[in-house]
Amino acid sequence: MEMNIFENKENANNGPRSITILGSTGSIGCSTLDLIKFTPKRFEVVALTGNENVNLLIKQAIAFKPKLAVIGNEKLFNELKEGLSGTKIMVAAGKAALVEAAEMGSEIVVAGIVGIAGLLPTIAAVKRGAIIALANKECLVCSGTLFLNEVSRSGATLLPIDSEHNAIFQVFDFNNSSSVDRLTLTASGGPFIRSSREELLKVTPSQAVKHPNWDMGAKISVDSATMMNKGLELIEAYYLFPVEENQIDILIHPQSVIHSMVSYNDGSVLAQMGTPDMRIPISYALAWPNRFRTPAERLDLSEIGELNFQKPNPKRFPALALARDALKMGGAMPTVLNAANEVAVDCFLNEKIGFLDIMRVIEEVLDETSNSTLHQLSEISSCDYTIRKRAQEIAFELT
Ligand code: NDP
Ligand code: MG
Repeated sequence: MEMNIFENKENANNGPRSITILGSTGSIGCSTLDLIKFTPKRFEVVALTGNENVNLLIKQAIAFKPKLAVIGNEKLFNELKEGLSGTKIMVAAGKAALVEAAEMGSEIVVAGIVGIAGLLPTIAAVKRGAIIALANKECLVCSGTLFLNEVSRSGATLLPIDSEHNAIFQVFDFNNSSSVDRLTLTASGGPFIRSSREELLKVTPSQAVKHPNWDMGAKISVDSATMMNKGLELIEAYYLFPVEENQIDILIHPQSVIHSMVSYNDGSVLAQMGTPDMRIPISYALAWPNRFRTPAERLDLSEIGELNFQKPNPKRFPALALARDALKMGGAMPTVLNAANEVAVDCFLNEKIGFLDIMRVIEEVLDETSNSTLHQLSEISSCDYTIRKRAQEIAFELT
């Protein structure tokens, strides 16, 4: 589907831009607030949301003075209310309140909630035509076509924060997209690229969340270790850019210096590089179509010395083929893949299943599910619910 999802709607007045951060207490949220702190006159924070980390949400709200602070977990409402008493900040809790935070008038919404939990709030921001700085890849994976239809209906602007997609966005010639031959998503290969199968059997959650290059939330760190993150990113790239599935390659590049590349039909390859610091792609989305200075460490290639590349081994990383197949099958399969992965990663993080069991759960769920078409958000949510229950049963059988 070809559409102008990156239409320029930079505000005409040069005053501060209003911004809402969904998932402000997470890694993406904290990096975003760090940039705002670094360049305070540029932004005015409208709403912040968290889920469990109420103390951090309170601290952030006191520091950045949003109009509204929302905690997803309703049980923490009183704590939030007490923590912000004496301020003018409105407080709310629960899933509906997360959607209200997204609906509140702000120019930019950073979609930084992890997993399909971010879908309804992000769609709410899309529906009111906001500029969406998208980190939450799972919501695009689960609802791709529907999400993009809402973007074109509302006139929202969709800007990718995910570093690979942000890199491609920076070097993709949208006025000449027929000259694009291929996209190459780079992948670090995660912490276990050289581990044996025996070692993988014994991997603990704390080992899996220690990414060699990036400092990220627990779920995406495990996804990076299994390479399901790159599988989800393949689907994300398919929806974001006007290319076919078979034009998207994945290349292991352990240094995470080249964040992705676009190959053109004249033989040119354009890449975006930088240190592995999410504040760089986040700042690009927040400033687009301009740039602003960030405190990120500068890239010193002479210090790095060499850059390495290798093709991913499909046997070692079955997640890549599972994701590609789900994308090719289309329909409900990306939603199914995502739900099974979310449950399996959660079970692994809670030490209910082993590291290699994550793929076993996903494979089994995909094998036994017959495809269907999901037309509406409610169908996506109910598919997600059913698959989660089934994935939990399968994971339980493995324990
Ligand atoms: P984190 O786990 O660090 O943060 C997740 C955020 O979502 C937190 O604010 C968390 O609240 C909130 N949250 C979790 N569950 C729910 C829920 N059920 N309802 C409402 N809010 C919820 O994740 P990251 O910041 O690492 O990742 C966020 C998204 O960005 C993911 O989709 C990830 O794939 C993507 N991304 C992240 C990158 C990174 O470098 N971190 C890079 C590229 C993409 P709380 O902590 O208060 O419980
Ligand atoms: Mg990424």
